[in-house]
Amino acid sequence: MSVWIEIQRNISQVQGREFVVCDRKSVGGGSINQAYQISDSQHSYFVKLNQASKVAMFEAEAAGLKEMHASQSIRVPKPLSWGTAAGQSYIILEWIPFGHGDTQAWFAMGQQLAAMHRQAHDQGFGWHQNNTIGDTPQRNPWTSNWGEFFTEHRIHYQLQLAQRNGGHFRQGDVLLDQSPALLAHPVTSSLVHGDLWSGNAAFSQAGEPIILDPATYYGDREVDIAMTELFGGFPPAFYQGYQETWPLAEGYQQRKILYNLYHILNHFNLFGGGYASQAQRMIEQVVAMV
Ligand code: ADP
Repeated sequence: MSVWIEIQRNISQVQGREFVVCDRKSVGGGSINQAYQISDSQHSYFVKLNQASKVAMFEAEAAGLKEMHASQSIRVPKPLSWGTAAGQSYIILEWIPFGHGDTQAWFAMGQQLAAMHRQAHDQGFGWHQNNTIGDTPQRNPWTSNWGEFFTEHRIHYQLQLAQRNGGHFRQGDVLLDQSPALLAHPVTSSLVHGDLWSGNAAFSQAGEPIILDPATYYGDREVDIAMTELFGGFPPAFYQGYQETWPLAEGYQQRKILYNLYHILNHFNLFGGGYASQAQRMIEQVVAMV
């Protein structure tokens, strides 16, 4: 069965009314999957496709979006379903026509992200399933100690991957020794987006904040704010909205470098090149803090 027939059948079943694709358009801007808008005369859906072996990635994305949606704090595209057909995996989401965010909308995004971060988990840090960051596996075993979780399952994991990819970072061992102590602060468990760069933040046509394409888990809320600062930063209104709702704790500026090192190591593992020297500089900065 063609993947599109299966998707059509799936949407009809979930929505309880017949859906027949009349129009299919490619959507650009993604980094991993092929994305499409599919429509009949009345409704549109957003579909991402990949090879069948990537179905777990879509399963985890749908679960992450559901968890964020259930927190009733910030809008995310609602997932309809996911699966495999004809050698491909797919995820179907609500289609949201995107608009533009003014200062007020960015302020609201900061407030609503802080509200999402208020959702804690009594098992601490991790999640009930593993997921991916970009195309890289992301392990989320429940761990009560945040410093241990981030050191082992974020930094150590990426450093090991980097070694297999031919990246050898000086002072990696020192960093791993120091990292738990650097992260020992009064941290609470927060539902985080996990991959919050500007490409994963948007607004509806009514200016409602939306976050998408998450790498969800329960962690230190600072990881999301750190990532917003990594590639140029979000507008100042976003940080004002966040800080007015739930101010960041002392020491964030130091921890931020370690939090963003995770993404730079991941970029090295995905794309190689100049990310190696950026990661090395960050490792040295972190080690020099102690
Ligand atoms: P990838 O997983 O390949 O990185 P994304 O989830 O980032 O793909 O989606 C690619 C692009 O499609 C986004 O940058 C955004 O512009 C658009 N998009 C994502 N989700 C939706 C949606 N629910 N409705 C409309 N457009 C969307």
